[in-house]
Amino acid sequence: MLAIEGCYLATMDPAGTEHPAGYLVIEGNRILAVGPGPLPPEHAAAERIDGSGLLATPGLVNAHHHLYQWITRGYATDDTLFGWLTALYPVWAGLDAELVQAAAAANLGWLALTGCSTSTDHHYVFPTGSGDLLAAEILAARQIGLRFHPGRGSMNLGQSAGGLPPDSVIEDHDDILAATQAAIDRWHDPSFGAMTRIAVAPCSPFSVTAELMRDSADLARRAGVRMHTHLAETLDEEEFCRETYGRTPAQYAEDLGWLGPDVWLAHCVHLSGEAIGRFAATGTGVAHCPTSNGRLGSGIAPVRALLAAGAPVGLGVDGAASNESGRMIDELHQALLAARFAGGPLALSARQALQMATMGGARCLGREDELGSLEAGKLADVALWRTGGLAGAGIADPLCVLVFGAPALDRLLVGGLTVVRDGDLVTADSGALAAAAAAASARIAGHVGAGI
Ligand SMILES: [Zn+2]
Repeated sequence: MLAIEGCYLATMDPAGTEHPAGYLVIEGNRILAVGPGPLPPEHAAAERIDGSGLLATPGLVNAHHHLYQWITRGYATDDTLFGWLTALYPVWAGLDAELVQAAAAANLGWLALTGCSTSTDHHYVFPTGSGDLLAAEILAARQIGLRFHPGRGSMNLGQSAGGLPPDSVIEDHDDILAATQAAIDRWHDPSFGAMTRIAVAPCSPFSVTAELMRDSADLARRAGVRMHTHLAETLDEEEFCRETYGRTPAQYAEDLGWLGPDVWLAHCVHLSGEAIGRFAATGTGVAHCPTSNGRLGSGIAPVRALLAAGAPVGLGVDGAASNESGRMIDELHQALLAARFAGGPLALSARQALQMATMGGARCLGREDELGSLEAGKLADVALWRTGGLAGAGIADPLCVLVFGAPALDRLLVGGLTVVRDGDLVTADSGALAAAAAAASARIAGHVGAGI
């Protein structure tokens, strides 16, 4: 048993309960008790962590990502999504299992250091003969100790058939479905407290055929796993969908069975009022990625309207090739600023930003009964933040430091196990992860003779 005492607790429970000085007791991988004031005597035998000066929040949930991109940062820094993708596809064609392992371990280590306890991933580049890329990233997640939801992604609409990616990086329709089913059979754990769950995740309307979208949805629903894809990220995509299918991206997705309570979609920057209503009515989740949307100049997602309509909205860092900093905690700040650029100072509060990064993400993953708030019975995924020191001293509200300011992570627990202590990764050597990632970056750049 483990007890954290004397911290500021932002539980993110449905009532928004906060305790300026409280305690949290962990037994095994679950939260046993949480409350205000000193540790009750019945928990006196627990190992103690002094939480004074620290803010406890639920571990952050990263709702959209591409871990492999960690080793292709800094390319096409001044381009649109389609231009950036076209520059990177040939580089990504050089991926193999060793490169993915190095990228995923480094990237997950970095996510942990920025408060993320659960990360999704959306891996959609599977070059022929590249090895078992999904296994490589799942083993990396187990090494670092994060809860992991990889999506078995796919692309099968190459340039020769009117898609964006070169034919060299696409796969065959039947091979994709067989590999996706095999990934579910091998890795998906539906049980309470699962560390690994698989999603079905074809890449985007401009890189996947309608037939594969429909068949992927059927497969996911037969298997009882969640569905994820990119949608409505840019105006170029909207134009592609109107020209190719005569539909907006949201209409196209709904036609193919891709709206529903088992679906969460990345970006959703360009949505009509009608589409927002359909997302809310169907319980379709959105992974809002403000840094990536800004980096690629894609636009500002209608987060305030989505939240007001009742749609689940989580936050994602998106792949590191379009968000080189990749810090999970920064997405809260960026989400707040982006919403306010578009909608004024009342468009999003600090507490709403934290809500998105915790319960919002948990809802996207269908795990709101397990994750996203500090409540008895839920999983012990906890982030402890330093809100004082030069960065935050004198700011009365710790949540103001967390979202408007520059907090530092002190400790991260995932299922009650320590992943970060005193601001350092304890499950792996950060320097070794960085060195391996640098070597992997050099090797994949060499694959196309590309310099950065
Ligand atoms: Zn993405």
